[in-house]
Amino acid sequence: MPTNSGTLPQPPGDTPLPLRRRLLWLLLVGLVASLLVTLVWLAGRYEASQVQGQLERDAADAVGDIRAGFSRNVQNLQALEFNRPTPAAWGSQAADLLRQRRELLRIEWLDNDLSLRAQADTPYLAPVFARLGRENSRSDVAQACTAARRVNGPAFSSSYFVSTKQGLGLEVIELCLPLVGSGKASGYFVATYSLPEVLGQFLGPQLTRGQEVSFNEADGTRLAIRGAGSRGTRVFTAQQLLDLPGITLVLRLSSWRGAPDLFPNVLTALVTAMSIALILVLALLGKDTRRRLKAERELGDAFAFRAAMENSLVTGLRARDLKGQTTYVNPAFCQMVGFSAKELLQPSLQATQPPPYWPPDLMDEYQERQAIRLAGRVPPREGFESVFMRKNGSRFPVLIIEAPLVNAQGSQTGWMSAFLDLSEQRRVQEQSRASQERLQATARLAIAGEMASLLSHELNQPLAAISSYATGSLNLLLQHQQDGLAQPGLLDQAMSQDMVQAMHRIAEQAERAGKVIKSVHDFVRRRDQAREAVPPLALFDAILPLVSLQAKKLAISVQVEVEGQLPLVFCDRTMVEQVLLNLARNAMQAMDGADVAQRILRMSVARVPGRGHANWLAFSVSDLGSGISAQVGQQLFTPFFTTKAEGMGLGLSLCRTVVEQHGGALVFGPNTPQGTVFTFTLPARTPE
Ligand code: ADP
Repeated sequence: MPTNSGTLPQPPGDTPLPLRRRLLWLLLVGLVASLLVTLVWLAGRYEASQVQGQLERDAADAVGDIRAGFSRNVQNLQALEFNRPTPAAWGSQAADLLRQRRELLRIEWLDNDLSLRAQADTPYLAPVFARLGRENSRSDVAQACTAARRVNGPAFSSSYFVSTKQGLGLEVIELCLPLVGSGKASGYFVATYSLPEVLGQFLGPQLTRGQEVSFNEADGTRLAIRGAGSRGTRVFTAQQLLDLPGITLVLRLSSWRGAPDLFPNVLTALVTAMSIALILVLALLGKDTRRRLKAERELGDAFAFRAAMENSLVTGLRARDLKGQTTYVNPAFCQMVGFSAKELLQPSLQATQPPPYWPPDLMDEYQERQAIRLAGRVPPREGFESVFMRKNGSRFPVLIIEAPLVNAQGSQTGWMSAFLDLSEQRRVQEQSRASQERLQATARLAIAGEMASLLSHELNQPLAAISSYATGSLNLLLQHQQDGLAQPGLLDQAMSQDMVQAMHRIAEQAERAGKVIKSVHDFVRRRDQAREAVPPLALFDAILPLVSLQAKKLAISVQVEVEGQLPLVFCDRTMVEQVLLNLARNAMQAMDGADVAQRILRMSVARVPGRGHANWLAFSVSDLGSGISAQVGQQLFTPFFTTKAEGMGLGLSLCRTVVEQHGGALVFGPNTPQGTVFTFTLPARTPE
């Protein structure tokens, strides 16, 4: 089978999402997720290290601030010695200093043997040593002063707890500043520091606002604390050693942060957002790919469907562009004209030559038609007939139906033509016409035969009468001749001789006419020998085209019923067909003018039950027409009896003759609910 030259693209194969691609997708999603988690974790860590670093720096600054505070106070204390004041004057100056410096609880002026010369207490608190007395702390003061004297500079005691009232108290340290007058030791200034106030006064409020600052001993015992951070999820701590002469304290900064959160900083948030966007884009891409694959599959199916449809079509299809070049032909068209799609679609040939299936002598006409089409004139919807030429040169009629070819944008891109090969249809029409003519000729012949038969039957008697009268007349004349010899003059001798001869001639001719008629009769009867075994259905099939033609005109529906497993019928096929045709024609004429619902012609054949040993078949033709009155019924088979204006009245008589010649019988009766049934019997072929 010729195929068109690959104008249809190959449908893509079915591609379900394979396991490998699924795994790749999973891997990709996993990678992106782990990247995201790592990024968040790293960003969190980075932020924590930032916080920690800041805290370390704060702690170092705090230690510096505290050192600066202490050295500033040492200078203030040294200023008290200036001008060698009297104890009273010193006391007021010390009170001033205490008013300025809240971290100082008490300042004492001691002699070299540590006996008190003067002292002043902070105005902000009740005197701290009022309750337990100063004596308890003497050893700490002595320790600090010994150290101070040794280094000849300020020195601190170790910290100790001073309880003030009802379980309250505070951690303090003593600072001892040795005094030197005229080159020798002249006593000490001892300042008692409140450790909590040291934190409060020496450190800026911003340090103690969001975090906790405390002095601790090396073993971790907390001595003083300032500030209280709001509690967060995570604690950051930084420690710095505050190394002072005589004492070493640990300054500890604790900071509470809500950080790091899930999105600790803008960078992480950005990366997270981008990753989410990436995943979204990937998901959308995946969805799009799936949709595309589905569309491809559907397109493939549609193509396969179209290809199957085109290959199964018996109608030829051809598409032409607006320049008249053929752009597509289907296999049926190729088969019809005998050229392959490649030959028909070749652009170089198309440009120079007319289509190879145009008959050369009709070329001008076809070119004109194509020009009209290309000018945009729409052809008749019902199509038109034309003649094409096959590759082998034979011609065949085609029915061409053309329609504009419109693309998806709605503009015309050419013409699509459908072709129906009419050869077979023509052959059937020709066959049916021939069989119709044959039946009609046979009908005429049969009627003529019947007439001849009837005439011969009717004419034989008068001819016999003529013959016997002639013979009688001849006998009389001969008698007279003999008598005339006895009575001369009665009849002229010569004339009587002529009459005898004429009578002889009449008798001869009558006899000849009789023989002619007999030979005609014999000729008509000779058909007896033309019998054959025919399937009963074949008899109906032969007359159906003619019957249907008339039935269509009269809007009559025809029903044929043939009993199953019937034997062949042994008959003169042509004559029996005539009988059936006559009966069917009469039946249809009887229904002309009846109600449309009542116009049913039924023809059937069945086995006749129990008629002797022979096999017989009964053929029936029934109608729902006017029926046959008793009066008409009596003369029905009489030759030349008719009730129709143009009728000959020979049909039924012929039918009966034919049926009786076969040994059967033709009868009629009323049909139910109305009309007539004609039934005749014919012998089935005997087994031998
Ligand atoms: P023709 O058909 O030429 O009249 P026929 O011998 O076939 O001659 O029929 C004779 C007459 O019998 C017809 O004119 C018609 O009146 C009558 N006849 C025949 N068949 C039927 C029938 N099926 N129904 C009613 N009348 C019929």
